[in-house]
Amino acid sequence: MKAATLGLARRVEELLKLKRTMLSRLESRLSRREVEAAKKDHHARRKPRPCGMTIHTGIGCNLGCLYCYVPDMGFPLKPSPYPLSGEQLVYALLSNPYFVPGPQGTLLAFGSVTEPFLEETKERAIEYLKYTHEHLGNPQQLSTKATLSDDEIDLFVKSVDPNINILVTIVTLRYAKLLEPNAPLPDERMAFAEKLARRGISVTLFMRPIIPGITDKEAEHILIKSQEHGIRSVVLGSLRVTPGILRRLEASRIVDVNEIRRRLPRAPRSSGDQVTIIENDLKERIARIARRLGLQVLPSSCSANVWSHKLWCYACKWGPCGDPSNAIGVSRDDIVAAAEILGCNKPRVSIKKWLAELRCKRITRRPDVIAVWLETLIRRSVRVLTY
Ligand code: SF4
Ligand code: SF4
Repeated sequence: MKAATLGLARRVEELLKLKRTMLSRLESRLSRREVEAAKKDHHARRKPRPCGMTIHTGIGCNLGCLYCYVPDMGFPLKPSPYPLSGEQLVYALLSNPYFVPGPQGTLLAFGSVTEPFLEETKERAIEYLKYTHEHLGNPQQLSTKATLSDDEIDLFVKSVDPNINILVTIVTLRYAKLLEPNAPLPDERMAFAEKLARRGISVTLFMRPIIPGITDKEAEHILIKSQEHGIRSVVLGSLRVTPGILRRLEASRIVDVNEIRRRLPRAPRSSGDQVTIIENDLKERIARIARRLGLQVLPSSCSANVWSHKLWCYACKWGPCGDPSNAIGVSRDDIVAAAEILGCNKPRVSIKKWLAELRCKRITRRPDVIAVWLETLIRRSVRVLTY
């Protein structure tokens, strides 16, 4: 087990200093207007989600997947590249108090509320991958159901973190044209996955959302085909529905919406309310098939990112994930010293399995910022309280 010690506190000090230095270096290259736009952007404020910091490469998506909740979040159907340049995105991330730079820092997840490789957005996506890789070095992951040409693959491979993890989404072979009307066909996605895998890129099958009666019935076929195309791991994910998604799926006349309703823990409360249906039984069944075929079943997208970067994480009950030889050993003293640097006065620490609890007499930095920094560096869940 690796000790976090070089000290954890010294690493925190160095990383905080690095952020300041990089920000002032970038400020000298960007215009005042560019700096202001980057500071106001949500990448400069947002708290990372458990899968890491999601990076928006565009606004809107026109692939028209019937199960997509992005239109219900108010995003347009007509896509456009995200308005920040690559340098501005790096500036925004460095301005974000939660963001920890570097290969052991915040996980970056590209393409959460859009498809990154749309015609309109792929250039921006590759620009963001290149700039964040060159300037920050954080672990990268990208989810897609689109494809790139051979020339674009060359550019992509040259631009990105060599350990990047690509999640290729496939939830049906038979009904893709109906459920994902404008997306490349699953066969094209598989061919794309294979080209990436041949170039040494880590590719994971993203079977999300599992549509009851469709994905579970086709799962074995999808898994076998994926394996034939060089995919070695799979992440399974549940379907989230809004009233709009239920309507669209019902109108398709191929999805049994009554079965989806039966699996709802509660009805959506408003048009934008996303409710995840209960499908642990389907997930377990698909996971059993995947394991039997020799695929690695990962509990979440962050797990695929952690594995492809040979990192280790035990920040939730699904863990530990990743390379056990890189497990991070932490002591109470490590956390106490790092917490003091981060603004926690007279820290008291207790560690239980994947959760560290930190109590501070006074706090000079936002408690959730302290928690996210420690969580990122020790890869455990951290709760910050006062006493
Ligand atoms: S590709 Fe993704 S963002 Fe685009 S419509 Fe489909 S699910 Fe939504
Ligand atoms: S333990 Fe695994 S699933 Fe949980 S946050 Fe870490 S990488 Fe993700």
